[in-house]
Amino acid sequence: METRNLIIIGSGPAGYSAAIYAGRAELKPLLFEGQSAGGQPGGQLMLTTEVENFPGFPKGIMGPDLMSEMKKQAERFETEIIAKDVIEVDFSVRPFLVKSGEQEYYAKSVIICTGAQAKWLGVPGEQAYWGRGVSACATCDGFFFKEKHIVVVGGGDAAMEEANFLTRFASKLTLLVRKDELKASKIMQDRVKANPKIEIVWNTEVVEVLGDETKLTTLKVKNNKTGETSEIQADGLFVAIGHKPNTDLFQGKLELDQVGYIVTKPGSTETSIEGVYAGGDVADHKYRQAITAAGTGCMAMLDAERFLSRQE
Ligand code: NDP
Repeated sequence: METRNLIIIGSGPAGYSAAIYAGRAELKPLLFEGQSAGGQPGGQLMLTTEVENFPGFPKGIMGPDLMSEMKKQAERFETEIIAKDVIEVDFSVRPFLVKSGEQEYYAKSVIICTGAQAKWLGVPGEQAYWGRGVSACATCDGFFFKEKHIVVVGGGDAAMEEANFLTRFASKLTLLVRKDELKASKIMQDRVKANPKIEIVWNTEVVEVLGDETKLTTLKVKNNKTGETSEIQADGLFVAIGHKPNTDLFQGKLELDQVGYIVTKPGSTETSIEGVYAGGDVADHKYRQAITAAGTGCMAMLDAERFLSRQE
């Protein structure tokens, strides 16, 4: 069985950026376009509508179109793409082993770009109105809600940050919290409580997302103390209840942090195993942007290339 220079696992902005750089360095990378991690090949951007903040697209570009362009660019530089999930890895052997279906692949270096996924409420209508009022990224979609009523769900730091940020656009913002206290740090709580545009509604959960044919219009909510249900008229629902990195495959194989993100060495994309690198949201719970994922995917490839040169 042939040993490859580089296997890239994942096909979001990080994976394709790593592939473009690796292809141009004539490493002939093999990229696995996972079918299940994050929902589908292409990652989280496949679930986004318009992307207006990726440099180079002054008129904006649809998320799936951006991913399709990145894929074409990776293919132009001879990336071999396999549309299958990786089901097992073994980083304790050299070359590293990557298994997909019954097939085994070997590589001198591996870049992991399997991404993360937003946690969802799992209520009726949430998926149907995804991209049509429902979002999990204020930085990406806040701009579309100028002078609108936005509802944010969550009680952690992310929900506080999103709520504050979204008041730049919203005429009114309602923060729905399922308990009678916030989980967020005090400083973040204080900022939200001091923001005159934000109303906090306690002990309340969304039970259904309703709308017309084109967009979300109404949220059915329930007070979990009294059991009473009511409706909130809203234009946007931002779900900020945490993210889950796609790292099930790497449990026990690489060092992960408490929440499951891959730990990389400071100032590098190197994981706990030399020769294995991580780029994009799978190792980043802080920035989580397409452009930062593309940037760290590129960094991972440069780290891998230097590692390969050292091996020679
Ligand atoms: P967290 O896990 O910290 O918080 C999730 C919040 O969502 C909790 O309040 C939780 O409620 C609530 N929640 C979970 N499920 C549901 C549900 N089904 N319905 C309603 N509410 C729900 O996640 P975050 O994304 O906020 O933060 C992740 C990490 O990133 C944290 O360590 C955080 O500190 C950090 N972070 C830091 C920032 C900063 O410092 N600027 C900004 C953003 C994140 P409950 O309290 O009831 O469990």
